Amino acid sequence: MASSSDTVCMIPWEGMAVTMRNEIRPCCRFPGKAAVAPELYEEAFKQLRIDMLNGKKDERCIKCWQEEDAGIPSMRTRANIFHGYEFKKDILTEKPRKLTHIELSLDNICNFQCRMCGSQFSSKALKRDMWLKDNHPDVHIEPARVQKSRYETLKDMDIDWSELRSVKLLGGEPFMSPNFMDFLYFLDMRTDVSKVDLEIVTNCSYKMPEEMAEMINQFKFLRLSGSFDGTKKINEYQRVGSNWEEGLTNWLEYRDLLTKKRMVIHQTFSVLNLNTIDESLALYEPHCDSLSWSYDEYQLSFLCAPDWFEEWVLSTNKNEKLRNVFKKRVYDDEKWKRVMRTIYALDEFHGTDIEEANPELARLLRINNKRRIYNHICNGDPDCFYCNMYQEVI
Ligand code: SF4
Repeated sequence: MASSSDTVCMIPWEGMAVTMRNEIRPCCRFPGKAAVAPELYEEAFKQLRIDMLNGKKDERCIKCWQEEDAGIPSMRTRANIFHGYEFKKDILTEKPRKLTHIELSLDNICNFQCRMCGSQFSSKALKRDMWLKDNHPDVHIEPARVQKSRYETLKDMDIDWSELRSVKLLGGEPFMSPNFMDFLYFLDMRTDVSKVDLEIVTNCSYKMPEEMAEMINQFKFLRLSGSFDGTKKINEYQRVGSNWEEGLTNWLEYRDLLTKKRMVIHQTFSVLNLNTIDESLALYEPHCDSLSWSYDEYQLSFLCAPDWFEEWVLSTNKNEKLRNVFKKRVYDDEKWKRVMRTIYALDEFHGTDIEEANPELARLLRINNKRRIYNHICNGDPDCFYCNMYQEVI
């Protein structure tokens, strides 16, 4: 069953992404609920592979299709170059091939509790999420307890590692995880790591020991993604637990210790820091080979923001990608109220104040919330959001 269509993505043949529940899906973009137990992976995505060969677009791959429709390279097109689709398209069948790419978090051990992140990805955020659930159930945060032994389960999975060519490690914070070096040695015993590209996402809070640098340098290539979210003050506000100077110093030390590498600074923009996007991107440019950014789609997303928010951000920022991202924005009053509640609830938990971190944003939220409070008509609901806000913002 050779492919003659342009709907094939090589990932369901040669890749897998392991979820925090040790379930498997083709890639991190695939909906989490589609993930299955490792022993079911081949059968569960057989139809996907058949459909791709037959020119059918699976709706679960919507993000890739949207990117391609917008004329930008998608994860699919990049993966097809990496996996050599051009050379393999005539030999693809419904059966998966040997694993060449895997994407996983070894555990959720992390020393930060970023405001846009959750306890699923950071052990440090568990206490916070439990507090939010108990004290502010209206922000709808669900604490997640990730099993401590999940990495052991991964090691036991029946995988042929011999053709492995790429590994992407996500958070927690890999450099502080006791599983990190163990995993690299595990790979070293099962495959030729000099043929394997490594991609690591780090929060840059850890000094890298020489032993770690030596081990990483045995891999073919490293793409190191360092997470910073904006200028010093707003970075430390959004990334709770971070120290901006220390993070940058560590980042520059990684650059000296590591050999074959590409250093990428990645920033996540949310309601909290979006108004600084141009300045933030320019700030890190001298310290990396390239910059990337994404946006929070969850508790502090600006995709539900009202018009004034977009107008305000675009009045001082020229970023082209942002203009395209804003096309997806749909004002949703309920979701926006939840964003407000989350900002104030997190300030309460951490004893912080958005006014200090981003005074201009705080001022506009105050003005616009005030406007809405004056204009709203309460139907007597004792939990009326606007009435509750009255005390806080006026
Ligand atoms: S097409 Fe995109 S979403 Fe679908 S499997 Fe490939 S990378 Fe993942």
